[in-house]
Amino acid sequence: MTGHSLRIVRRTVPIVLSVTIAACGGGESGADTTATAAAGATRDSVSGAVTTTVGGDTALGASMAAVQPDDSRQPNEMGRIPVLEYHLIVPEEKGEFTRTPQQLRKDLETLYARGYRPVNMVDVIDKKIQQLPKGVSPVVLVFDDASPSQFRYIERNGQLEIDPTSAVGILEKFSAEKKDWPRRAVFCMLPAAQVGRSFFGHKGIEGQKTEWRFRKVQFLHKQGYELCNHTLYHARLDRAGDQVQEFIARGDMAIDSAVAGYKVRTFALPLGMWPKQRNLAWQGSWKDPKSGKTVSYKYDAVLEVSGNPNESPYDPKFDPHSVNRQIMYKNALEATLNRLDKATGSAGRYVSDGNPGTVAKP
Ligand SMILES: [Zn+2]
Repeated sequence: MTGHSLRIVRRTVPIVLSVTIAACGGGESGADTTATAAAGATRDSVSGAVTTTVGGDTALGASMAAVQPDDSRQPNEMGRIPVLEYHLIVPEEKGEFTRTPQQLRKDLETLYARGYRPVNMVDVIDKKIQQLPKGVSPVVLVFDDASPSQFRYIERNGQLEIDPTSAVGILEKFSAEKKDWPRRAVFCMLPAAQVGRSFFGHKGIEGQKTEWRFRKVQFLHKQGYELCNHTLYHARLDRAGDQVQEFIARGDMAIDSAVAGYKVRTFALPLGMWPKQRNLAWQGSWKDPKSGKTVSYKYDAVLEVSGNPNESPYDPKFDPHSVNRQIMYKNALEATLNRLDKATGSAGRYVSDGNPGTVAKP
């Protein structure tokens, strides 16, 4: 098996700009003026990813087949599921919105050693976590803001390789090495923010070409990662007034321009700020004045910025429209996992019983 086909879609990404706001990854991030972004025609030679592609719609159970059951942990399917939040992956950790490539790699190793395996947010919503082998726990890894630091290409002799120090490079290498670590993570993307936070970079920012943007989004989808909307350019929804639905709908439109027909099911609130009319975060519509078409959105999950590890979908307190996350910096991962191991019942750690037909209650 060599190479892989990419769906090439050329459509216009609709963009309007006016406001300048701060992104949660630091730095100024207003709207960007890029009007179009088409998939590139360069031949793809993506390192570490071609041989073990799982595909966007592969069942979670199939990709978990290699995971060994572990009898050392008591099943508890009423327990909590950590939803980890990452922003910039940079050479030096400076505050809560940064993590180094080495730290991200170490986080994956920690999770792996402690019996966690990655799932997408929709796998939690759809209760596909029932397919996890006995003794195994789900974790959701979420990457916000679509910066180049999360997905960078290096061009060598006309071929594109994923930068091994970018988040996707680290994730792909880890999955290639560990056959029982599925390609699952959630990318909450901006298609039109500044400083390259626009489908992982453009206009030469951090060496990233505009024509690579759609290719990156398509690659993520093809590998099995989940595409999540984080609005058009990170405007605060509590201050967005009448534009709330426009900012959200246009994020979906841009994803659809990259992966035609993709149904976005997860939405991340910029800075965790809710619109005044809260339900507009998960359901709404906007009429595009250019085409006259109405774009509707309806999400199964809305991600907050912080909080405790999230309730199990079997816990009556589970609210998919308010999914709490843990920002990963310093020793937050170890602290979170230790707390879950110490607690019990619905405050403890979700551990699969390996039986899709039953919900293990401790
Ligand atoms: Zn953000």
